[in-house]
Amino acid sequence: MTNKTMMQYFEWYLPNDGFWWKRCSAKAQNLADLGITGVWLPPAYKASGQDDVGYSVYDMYDLGEFDQKGTVRTKYGTAEEYTEAVRAFHDAGVKVFADIVLNQKIGGDEMEDVTAVPVSAENRNETIGEPQTVRVWSRFTFPGRGGKYSAFTWNHEHFTGTDWDEISKASGKIFRFTGKNWEPDTDPEFGNFDYLMGMDVDMDNPEVIAETKKWLSWYLRRTGVDGLRLDAVKHISFSFYKELLGAVRQETSQDLPTVGEYWSGDLGRLLFYLDSVENSMSLFDVALHYNFFNASQQGSDFDLRGILQNTLVSARPDNAVTFVDNHDTQFGQSLQSFVSDWFKPFAYAMILLRAEGVPCVFYTDYYGNPAQNRPLVPNLGKLIKLRCKYAYGDQTDYFDDPHVIGWVRTGDSEHPDSGLAVVLSNAEGGSKRMFMGRECAGESFYDALSVFQEPVCIDQEGFGDFPTAERNLSVWVRKNALEDLIVNE
Ligand code: CA
Repeated sequence: MTNKTMMQYFEWYLPNDGFWWKRCSAKAQNLADLGITGVWLPPAYKASGQDDVGYSVYDMYDLGEFDQKGTVRTKYGTAEEYTEAVRAFHDAGVKVFADIVLNQKIGGDEMEDVTAVPVSAENRNETIGEPQTVRVWSRFTFPGRGGKYSAFTWNHEHFTGTDWDEISKASGKIFRFTGKNWEPDTDPEFGNFDYLMGMDVDMDNPEVIAETKKWLSWYLRRTGVDGLRLDAVKHISFSFYKELLGAVRQETSQDLPTVGEYWSGDLGRLLFYLDSVENSMSLFDVALHYNFFNASQQGSDFDLRGILQNTLVSARPDNAVTFVDNHDTQFGQSLQSFVSDWFKPFAYAMILLRAEGVPCVFYTDYYGNPAQNRPLVPNLGKLIKLRCKYAYGDQTDYFDDPHVIGWVRTGDSEHPDSGLAVVLSNAEGGSKRMFMGRECAGESFYDALSVFQEPVCIDQEGFGDFPTAERNLSVWVRKNALEDLIVNE
């Protein structure tokens, strides 16, 4: 068994040139060679505009095939190029995770007059005005597609509310349509966090439920993707995805590995959601992301012994997809909380070289983005390779000092030369006496990140004194592993 490693293969600030799916095809084998086993690709369907990242969903059956919203292609390319990219990843042995955005629709084709009540933005259960007529973009008829794949069209009956009225044109208001209720089993922030943006899809509507199931089955057949990344699950009825995933898994006989985005740093909320959906998916470990963010902000004031406390990967490792940053935490985005550059190698060592969780590497951290003045994370490729080939075996933690922590993987017989020792410091340097195993007595370990040139020799009891430099990270590996990594560079 090779360790699984995902990569989020996009970011917010990509050029709108229609070449993204082609780039995916071209890079698929490189990513496989690096040790990437799954990629999360951006939303592939037509959004309300060509330069949209993909979350302002217009038509989920238009993957860049029909002339709608002023364009055939999406920001990323055409439907044909998308399915080619999926094939290229499969040829390289890499699984593809599709980004599924069901909470909202934007860019309706026609308006309707609907009776609605305004609600407080701070407490969506509180009505703050009389019922009134609002004119909303609630008709989605997809004239450019002409009923191909599905004849379903949308109207206000399929939505619960919106934040734009063409009559009053007042911004910042949220309207709930008369006769509709917010889905009760959503995140409790703001009283009820069903509403996020655009036209909020009514997941309690039987026609919506049936059409969504039909769409997802179609999407899996049409594209061949292996798994799902679910957008904004905290804004969607908790019962909805549990039932949808169960039904589609049964119908398609696919495992359909799935990771949900429940954006909360509160471990209790993440666990409550997983319990609600009966662990039918994993969640991104947002709690761990915020620990990384806080540690990177606080510098040497942060006590590294607590870096994994109150995280999903500690509480429920089998359902945790760990990550450092994503397209939403980038500078200028809605959830901006970008982990500082100096801390990123530490954070990646913690998600890549430990036993628990499936890590998801962020595109921009691996490649950098010169146009956005974003540097790549030093040694990230090496850390991914270390995970793929050498981060195996039993794990022992040495989280016994506020500023210098370490852990050991003993290696296993299945992976030649596997086993490593990690030690890092967020203040002054130091060293950690750690147990590699009596059978390693006399063996030398070398710093794969080349901070130290001298090896560490394991003593007769099986211990080594593994150093780290000030505000630095070292990963100690066997000699053959070191030479393999050098050749690979
Ligand atoms: Ca919603």
